[in-house]
Amino acid sequence: MSAFPATRLRRLRRTDALRALVRETRLDLADFVMPYFVGPSSSRNEALPGMSRFSVEDLVAETGELVALGGTAVLLFGIPEEKDDEGSGAWDDDGIVQRALRALRAEHPGLVLLTDVCLCEYTAHGHCGVIRDGEVANDETLELLVRTAVSHVEAGADAVAPSDMMDGRVAAIRDALPETPIVSYAAKYASAFYGPFREAAESTPSFGDRRGYQMDPANAREALRECELDLAEGADVLMVKPALPYLDVIRAVRERFDCPVAAYNVSGEYAMVKAAAAAGHLDERAAALESLTAITRAGADLVFSYWTKDLARWL
Ligand SMILES: [Zn+2]
Repeated sequence: MSAFPATRLRRLRRTDALRALVRETRLDLADFVMPYFVGPSSSRNEALPGMSRFSVEDLVAETGELVALGGTAVLLFGIPEEKDDEGSGAWDDDGIVQRALRALRAEHPGLVLLTDVCLCEYTAHGHCGVIRDGEVANDETLELLVRTAVSHVEAGADAVAPSDMMDGRVAAIRDALPETPIVSYAAKYASAFYGPFREAAESTPSFGDRRGYQMDPANAREALRECELDLAEGADVLMVKPALPYLDVIRAVRERFDCPVAAYNVSGEYAMVKAAAAAGHLDERAAALESLTAITRAGADLVFSYWTKDLARWL
């Protein structure tokens, strides 16, 4: 490699057009999934619009706007009217997500409908599975997750995304749904960045925390083991969550596995930028675009982000 003065890297940075010609990473709306919360009634969160809640009717209108802007995929979280110890609202054929799926399927036939498969929004205690002796019981929870995933698919889901972090859940769902794509939250960390989500989804655990099943933020090699197991169990897409504090993990998963890799740009990552922008410390659009570019550059093929609808306007 020749050095200065023969080499001057600034030559290709001179104009917008030159920079665009040699740009390595580009954002494509087709790679983005907009998460939505659906509940009995709508409530708008002015500070964090991505954390707003929609009734089924309002969600149909909201996704209509997303589709009109070019958005292609949504991920649904449900907030039920009532919760119980098992989280039975999760697999209720007339549950909130199931009703939303049927309405969206009818209204937007081309929209990709993904569903989050977990019990924490539906359990009275807020944990992701059934509790036995003060702990989340892994194997007993699997059956309930399978029921939930099957009911989502019967209501019109195109793909299911189990986020509970129980061992063996991908195999259990794969067994029941041989044809359905599974987007596995394979490397889901016990993160401090989920705060705004838990408020929106009303899923804060009433006791303890989720460190007994979600991953320790300090571990990267373990993430690769999680991914390897989920692929072996039949996952189609591997997800890393959160995204920005775990770019190294996204990169490692990208290098090790040839399947599509997803990243979840979580509520705390979104809220940090929103709060800083509201305080005048940074420009939301520029910071969001830089964040999403970084996640893509790290190796994510698809990105779940609360900025997806904004991105549709920005691109
Ligand atoms: Zn959960």
